[in-house]
Amino acid sequence: MAAYSTFRTGGTVEAMVESGDLDELVALMRWLHRHQIPWQVIGGGSNILVTSSYHEGVFIRLGGCNDICVGPPGDTETAADCRLLVGAGCNLAALVSWCTRNGLAGLEFMAGIPGSVGGAIRMNAGAFGHSISEALMSVQWINEQGEILEAVRGNIVFSYRHSQFPGEPAGKMLITRGCFLLQRGDREVLAARCREIIEQRRQKQPWGLGSAGSVFKNPMGDFAGRLIEQAGFKGVTYGKAMVSPQHANFIVNTGGAVPEDIIGLMQEIRRKVLQQSGVLLEPEVHII
Ligand SMILES: Cc1cc2nc3c(=O)[nH]c(=O)nc-3n(C[C@H](O)[C@H](O)[C@H](O)COP(=O)(O)OP(=O)(O)OC[C@H]3O[C@@H](n4cnc5c(N)ncnc54)[C@H](O)[C@@H]3O)c2cc1C
Repeated sequence: MAAYSTFRTGGTVEAMVESGDLDELVALMRWLHRHQIPWQVIGGGSNILVTSSYHEGVFIRLGGCNDICVGPPGDTETAADCRLLVGAGCNLAALVSWCTRNGLAGLEFMAGIPGSVGGAIRMNAGAFGHSISEALMSVQWINEQGEILEAVRGNIVFSYRHSQFPGEPAGKMLITRGCFLLQRGDREVLAARCREIIEQRRQKQPWGLGSAGSVFKNPMGDFAGRLIEQAGFKGVTYGKAMVSPQHANFIVNTGGAVPEDIIGLMQEIRRKVLQQSGVLLEPEVHII
């Protein structure tokens, strides 16, 4: 899985299926359900850590499911708002730059966040005090039984880096599409805003090394990075994993790290931060 995770490390899976075709995905989910085969969905792999063990079953990726369509027809020409239907496999960076090129505002804060639209909806990804759910109108998904379902934003519980879909408390479903409500904006202004955000990220975050972004969620009213730095972890290594000297809530793969290096470092951090600050950090990264 190293090739499918931005941590650039991970174990082996029995099978990987990549499809962007809704009918094919429905058939796959029904077949997996009928045969009781375990499965797991992944997007861009930018928020997962796949352990070294052998993973039985099927990993599903929404390859090709990346259409961006404006709907209903004519919306963009006249209205101040625009509805955009986006396939869950669509790369977030591609969506943000499409919106900028087409003068649609509302997702600039997502500039520089890697991964897919499906993964971002699942994680309720965000930055600078905003999250993707704010721009969502509805989400379509396939449940474990292979049924296509859809819910409006008001019926989905979005919280900090988490989403809970009606009837899917365990989050075992395959998001296939998001419908966004965006506003008309000036292309130059939007492009400048995105550039500014990406520049801020470059300055504050490690660039070029394998990572999954922030490893822990920020505790209420505080920053995980601050607590980790205070506990003296900046630059600390565990095997080939290291707490970024630039941003203490990033663990980077310095080259050849195994998943257990990262997990070991996470455990050390949790233990020491709890001891020093009385805060039990909750992982943001999904360990599979
Ligand atoms: C350098 C860097 C910076 C980052 N900065 C930020 C940031 O500022 N803000 C932020 O919120 N995150 C950030 N992240 C984390 C990550 O990019 C986001 O959480 C992203 O939205 C994850 O999307 P993904 O497609 O990569 O999902 P994955 O990592 O592949 O999966 C994450 C979870 O979503 C589930 N999932 C994926 N696709 C689907 C689907 N189609 N249907 C149902 N479930 C699905 C997976 O099963 C898994 O549980 C950063 C990561 C990196 C590497």
